[in-house]
Amino acid sequence: MSRQRLTVVLSQGQGKDPRKRSLEESIAAALLMEPGLDVSIVPYLYDLDADHTGRLFLESVPGDMLVLGWMYPRAAFWLLDRCDIKGHYGENLITPKAEVDDDDEEQEEPAPPKGVGAVNVPDRWIYCLDLRDHADYTVYVQEVRRVAAECVERRETQLKSWIQGNPTMVQLGRYMREEEPVVATPQFTSEQLMQAPQRRWYPVIDYSRCTNCMECLDFCLFGVYGVDKTDRILVEDQDNCKKGCPACSRVCPEQAIIFPDYKTPAIAGAPVGNIGALKIDLTKLFGGGDAMTMAARERDRELVADGREAVGLTVGIPKRQVDKHQEPKDDLDKLMDALDDLDI
Ligand code: SF4
Ligand code: SF4
Repeated sequence: MSRQRLTVVLSQGQGKDPRKRSLEESIAAALLMEPGLDVSIVPYLYDLDADHTGRLFLESVPGDMLVLGWMYPRAAFWLLDRCDIKGHYGENLITPKAEVDDDDEEQEEPAPPKGVGAVNVPDRWIYCLDLRDHADYTVYVQEVRRVAAECVERRETQLKSWIQGNPTMVQLGRYMREEEPVVATPQFTSEQLMQAPQRRWYPVIDYSRCTNCMECLDFCLFGVYGVDKTDRILVEDQDNCKKGCPACSRVCPEQAIIFPDYKTPAIAGAPVGNIGALKIDLTKLFGGGDAMTMAARERDRELVADGREAVGLTVGIPKRQVDKHQEPKDDLDKLMDALDDLDI
């Protein structure tokens, strides 16, 4: 039986909220003596820059990993991917799934994401739990145990299939190394791991949804986005992003741009489900204006703050938005008109 251990990383919340600290401490205390786990604590994941010891530690973890943090699991997973800490997405059983309308029994399952996907994903799994989901620490402890058992079962199944099949030397070698005792963080003290980072603000791309359309690249006028050697979009200069600005996330047609600290769940990385255009557009209606106009306004505010000219809707606006005004009205447009007529 494989004895590879699950690395559990507790990412602390920003600030000193005593309720957050209490939950973090209760979870850590309960898991520290748990067999089969290596438990470490790092500062808030989003704030770790490339040189931070907490980030170096995360990069050094070789096997399955579970991260508990104060953000949506989707945000945490793609944040790790951005740091080259990659793996397959492990579903957890405690985060509420994407919102589905209970009154509509006919509602279809959400369409699977059509994004370009992550690249160079190693053969390991990463689970992310959102510490905002429950106040009871035992819920997290139970889920960590369940995930640890799932990881062991997966490795055993994999091993059996190799033995029945024709395992390569690399596969066997990896398993043999897993049998050795693993020490989680030999090179990092907890003081090093916990050095307080500065707060940061930048977009995180969910590549399971991103179709590489480049609309964010055209829209952002601050040099945040770029492309890699394979012409794939990436957040190239994240520190150019303007603190508090979520504009490009409103422009992305796939809801693939996440700002984990933004107040609106859809932008902060909430599960993307089949909430339907109607709900989204009603939200926009009551929020005062369509997303593109809001995005342009937010971008103009940052341009002016930089001493540049506001450009409104004249630069980097996706063609589909321009074309939209030429299209015949659909049912949703008619409903919106009817709501406008009601003057509510
Ligand atoms: S706008 Fe969205 S889908 Fe298009 S490249 Fe940017 S992140 Fe990807
Ligand atoms: S448009 Fe705004 S939020 Fe998006 S990357 Fe540029 S500065 Fe950041």
